[in-house]
Amino acid sequence: MASIVTDLRQCADSHPDRPAVRAGDRILSYADLRDRIARAATRLAAAGVSRDDRVLLIAPSVPEFAIAYYGLQSVGATAITLNVMSTPAEIGYVIDDSGTSLVLAWHRCAEAARSAAGERGLPMLELTEFENEPDDAVAATAPVDRDADDTAVILYTSGTTGRPKGAQLTVANIDAVPAAFQAALQVGEHERWATALPLFHCFGQVVVMHNALAGGGTLSLLSPFTPTAFMDRLRDEHITIACGVPTMWNAMLQVTEGYTPADFADLRLACSGGASMPGEVIREFSDRFGCSILEGYGLTETAGTTTFRNLEGPPKVGTVGPALPGFTIEVRDPDGHPVPADEIGEIFIKGPTVMKGYWNRPDATAAELVDGWFRTGDLGTMDTDGDVRIVDRTKDMIIRGGYNVYPREVEEVLYTHPDIVEVAVIGVSDDHYGEEIAAVITPRPGTQIDPDALRAWTKERLSAYKVPRIIRFVDALPKGATGKILKRAIDRSELVAPT
Ligand code: ATP
Repeated sequence: MASIVTDLRQCADSHPDRPAVRAGDRILSYADLRDRIARAATRLAAAGVSRDDRVLLIAPSVPEFAIAYYGLQSVGATAITLNVMSTPAEIGYVIDDSGTSLVLAWHRCAEAARSAAGERGLPMLELTEFENEPDDAVAATAPVDRDADDTAVILYTSGTTGRPKGAQLTVANIDAVPAAFQAALQVGEHERWATALPLFHCFGQVVVMHNALAGGGTLSLLSPFTPTAFMDRLRDEHITIACGVPTMWNAMLQVTEGYTPADFADLRLACSGGASMPGEVIREFSDRFGCSILEGYGLTETAGTTTFRNLEGPPKVGTVGPALPGFTIEVRDPDGHPVPADEIGEIFIKGPTVMKGYWNRPDATAAELVDGWFRTGDLGTMDTDGDVRIVDRTKDMIIRGGYNVYPREVEEVLYTHPDIVEVAVIGVSDDHYGEEIAAVITPRPGTQIDPDALRAWTKERLSAYKVPRIIRFVDALPKGATGKILKRAIDRSELVAPT
């Protein structure tokens, strides 16, 4: 029997006054958090929520998200967390797909949720209602026991290929994350964590929030992300572990004044994940702030956790580290056979965080979970030390005139150009070559890059067939809710090759 809230309650018993969650000046101690979770659980039970019911939670990165999330876990329900920007139609799709019985929403973003719930005659609660429970609720509520294989959360993947699918993560999947981090990275109970990631997404929710709170640390939430506000947090709250996506670390690098390595002296783990991190950003960050950014790799379907750059040895820029303890990674050819070291193939993962399957999608589950292995759809290599390098997503690979081009390799080179802040390389269809390579670039403010000169500069560093023929400058690249660059949202209508 298991429960996701067990570790958190034990932390509250052993150090009730330690800050658990902070958001600016608001600080909840472990005892406060435990009691407020118990109140939420009482209210949820009164609303008829019980074991295995599916409940939709829509809230930003505020302490109330954690209270509702662990309240749902306490009554044994399955939490489904959604982007606060979701429209009524998107919310309605998830309600219908998952068979949600109740909707919970933060009052400032409750309108769309209310509309979707109302159309279906479903009840909706605002999170502020949890506060109205009487104090005796606190003592009365003990978390229900669950099986390790019970579904704790369903996280919908963004659905680049068809309708969004709900990845079911079990109690055991979620609890495996702090165990893996504690074993591999010596994450202890006195860590001060900071993130500006949204909590509805796997990275913020499991890798950061649950890791921090199950481990007895203090979690500092920032929303929205701005580079200076985040750097102030790191300095003022003596943060020891900070987690973000590459665009956030890159944005901090663009802040040219006001911070020195001393401001990052307590930062033991600067973690990046969720998308490929340009090696240039890691190198510059280390040069300017004396702090190594460590990369990890994970997907929603693996609770965000599979590999992490370990702390021993020199940092191997460009790799996401070896499989975490308890995980196995294989890189396979299209016939499913493991490829030799350093050769490119598809990454397959086995381990304690691999989801139990997609909700109600036996075909998709059978296609991606093969003999206990999860096929990631990512291309990568593994070296003789077991370190993994993510080459690209299979679906992002460009085939130009019969040659394979990995956008990430071209992006890595372009990031070393002094006047480029951000870049996305994508394939666009082309009558002659099948696909043509396009680079969509945010230049450094105040600079002007000549496309022909940039092509010539790139050709000195890459084979001619990898040089982008199409170059377009934009003020900003489209980003998803986590801050990852969203290649599929780039406007392709103006991406045509020069004649
Ligand atoms: P989808 O459209 O499939 O839902 P998503 O970005 O929303 O995409 P996530 O589960 O959030 O889905 O992201 C997982 C993907 O992020 C991986 O498959 C991989 O392509 C990418 N990724 C994660 N970490 C890294 C990393 N360190 N380096 C490169 N890519 C990474």
